[in-house]
Amino acid sequence: MVKNEHMDYAYEIQKLKRQKNVIILAHYYQTGDIQDIADFVGDSLALSQKAASNDADIILFAGVRFMAETAKILSPGKKVLLPDMNAGCSLADSCKAEDFKKFLDENPGRTVITYVNTNVDIKVLSDIICTSSNAVKIIESLPPDEKIIFAPDRNLGNYILNKTGRDIIVWNGSCHVHEEFSLEAILKLKNENPEAKVIVHPECELPVRMIADFIGSTSALLQFTKKDNAKCYIVATEPGILHQMMKANPLKKYIPAPPKDSTCGCSECSFMKLITLEKIFKCLRDEKPEIVIDPEIILKAQKPILRMMKISEKLGL
Ligand code: SF4
Repeated sequence: MVKNEHMDYAYEIQKLKRQKNVIILAHYYQTGDIQDIADFVGDSLALSQKAASNDADIILFAGVRFMAETAKILSPGKKVLLPDMNAGCSLADSCKAEDFKKFLDENPGRTVITYVNTNVDIKVLSDIICTSSNAVKIIESLPPDEKIIFAPDRNLGNYILNKTGRDIIVWNGSCHVHEEFSLEAILKLKNENPEAKVIVHPECELPVRMIADFIGSTSALLQFTKKDNAKCYIVATEPGILHQMMKANPLKKYIPAPPKDSTCGCSECSFMKLITLEKIFKCLRDEKPEIVIDPEIILKAQKPILRMMKISEKLGL
């Protein structure tokens, strides 16, 4: 019954897509059924690049609000739809504009690099935006003595600081999903599956990163499982990515890293999971909710994002 409903929604979505010239962009943390109806599935960097270069009249974003806002900033002439406006992000919300302005005033003379996982009012205060795919390379592309502020994720910030050795002050924000993985539970799984490689997103806490065989952005983790010879992986990031890993290499085994609280299911991003096929269908049908941003804010927010894209292009990312 449920399956039929889903199949109908998928069919109706395809029809609406053709009628209205829509592109559906989906993040890797969406459920498998949504990834399968999307025109493009990727991480934040790839999705930004796709949002900036497509021929659609409407972009429907199957992801969270800061991603849809980034799409609107990069394609202001297009209608950008987000099926549920409550799809926020705990990391973006851990950096409020008023507090961040104060922080910048207290630490003047630094280049402000912020992760794409921020609300638009933080983007306008930034010099360069980055994603977990390009953060290290973007910082390494700057002159070695350039002083930097990195926000909002403390774990990614400290990872970058250790990798690059640069003078970086890190904002104290975090993602509730990536901080939730349990070191003890991962070690127990590793003990039970000694052949498994532990692959970890840099937003995870230091003790989890320390036992990783590989650390990388969501797309880097996917690429790693495609190229690597191991047959089993313990994956410490949002488990939506397992859908693409299984599609790419169905014979390998992928074990989602467990959260500290084994009863809560909180290694899944509850914001990402607010998006459903039914909501996508209704959103396309009614062409709302729509992302609306003041044109002046768009112009200001475009600058640091375009700077990221230029540097990424130059570095071949
Ligand atoms: S996984 Fe974390 S950073 Fe990503 S959208 Fe969810 S809360 Fe935000």
